Amino acid sequence: KLYNQVQDLKGSIRVYCRVRPFLGGQSNYLSSVGHIEEGTITISTPSKHGKGCRSFNFNKVFGPSATQAEVFLDTQPLIRSVLDGYNVCIFAYGQTGSGKTFTMAGPKDLTEQNQGVNYRALSDLFVLAEQRKNTFRYDVSVQMIEIYNEQVRDLLVTEIHNSSQSGLNVPDASLVRVSSTYDVIDLMNLGQRNRVVGATALNDRSSRSHSCLTVHVEGRDLTSGTILRGCMHLVDLAGSERVHKSEVTGDRLKEAQHINRSLSALGDVISSLAQKNSHVPYRNSKLTQLLQDSLGGQAKTLMFVHISPEADAIGETISTLKFAERVA
Ligand code: ADP
Ligand code: MG
Repeated sequence: KLYNQVQDLKGSIRVYCRVRPFLGGQSNYLSSVGHIEEGTITISTPSKHGKGCRSFNFNKVFGPSATQAEVFLDTQPLIRSVLDGYNVCIFAYGQTGSGKTFTMAGPKDLTEQNQGVNYRALSDLFVLAEQRKNTFRYDVSVQMIEIYNEQVRDLLVTEIHNSSQSGLNVPDASLVRVSSTYDVIDLMNLGQRNRVVGATALNDRSSRSHSCLTVHVEGRDLTSGTILRGCMHLVDLAGSERVHKSEVTGDRLKEAQHINRSLSALGDVISSLAQKNSHVPYRNSKLTQLLQDSLGGQAKTLMFVHISPEADAIGETISTLKFAERVA
């Protein structure tokens, strides 16, 4: 009985692990991934006395050959719940290069087949809304923001002014009505361009900031007039790799500290929700503050944790899997 209750409590937080395939030219690389089976991944760990193994359990593990469509299939039920008035958060966690952006946005050479969760989620929303059009009228609007060094930047403004854009709150960020997947693609491109604009001062900032696409859905029941509101946050987190204090200084050190702090704050929030703690420490980071209404309560959370298969990534792989195990 108690076991079932615990399972139910944990039901609103799901953790999926995804293993990136080796990239072109890496065919001779050693893999740290031993075995993948439904919800279990076994990692070969280096140890003083020869090789060891360690297994981690999640709701599901997607191996290197999993397609974007297969990965999305398990996300799909969440989309329906947004239309039913629930709040949903979907996170992509992992070290830089492990495939977070691939899962959420897709690769650089986008095709219909390799579109990521963001696009698929929105196009599903439109399909479901259309199916319900005799009973509900839905309005869909989106926001796109970036959190860098605990400062929030609106990514859907047509002109970015770096200095004056800091300190925005999500409610203040541009909210854009969308009515088709074409609108969505346009906006994602705008957001992407704006992210790049911000990156010129400090190169490749995208791996050191969190980006969040928020979809607000308002549904009006055509007979009763009741309004249902749900929202979905699709978050591509900053790279989780640890940097050694001795190797970085100045701005890089500050960035690294902000990232460490906000990812551990997120981990603390999710694990205290999973354990049904009465105190949930939302205030410890900008990210958890902004997502407070969508983490806990009736809200549903899905975390994709990404790992790189290369044997020399083992240190980061293990710390990623430990993080994930703590929130699962
Ligand atoms: P991150 O956002 O975590 O830094 P990326 O999503 O940019 O990582 O992935 C790094 C590289 O690996 C990119 O070139 C990306 O297209 C590729 N990649 C990641 N995941 C996959 C996958 N599942 N299948 C094929 N290529 C992938
Ligand atoms: Mg990325």
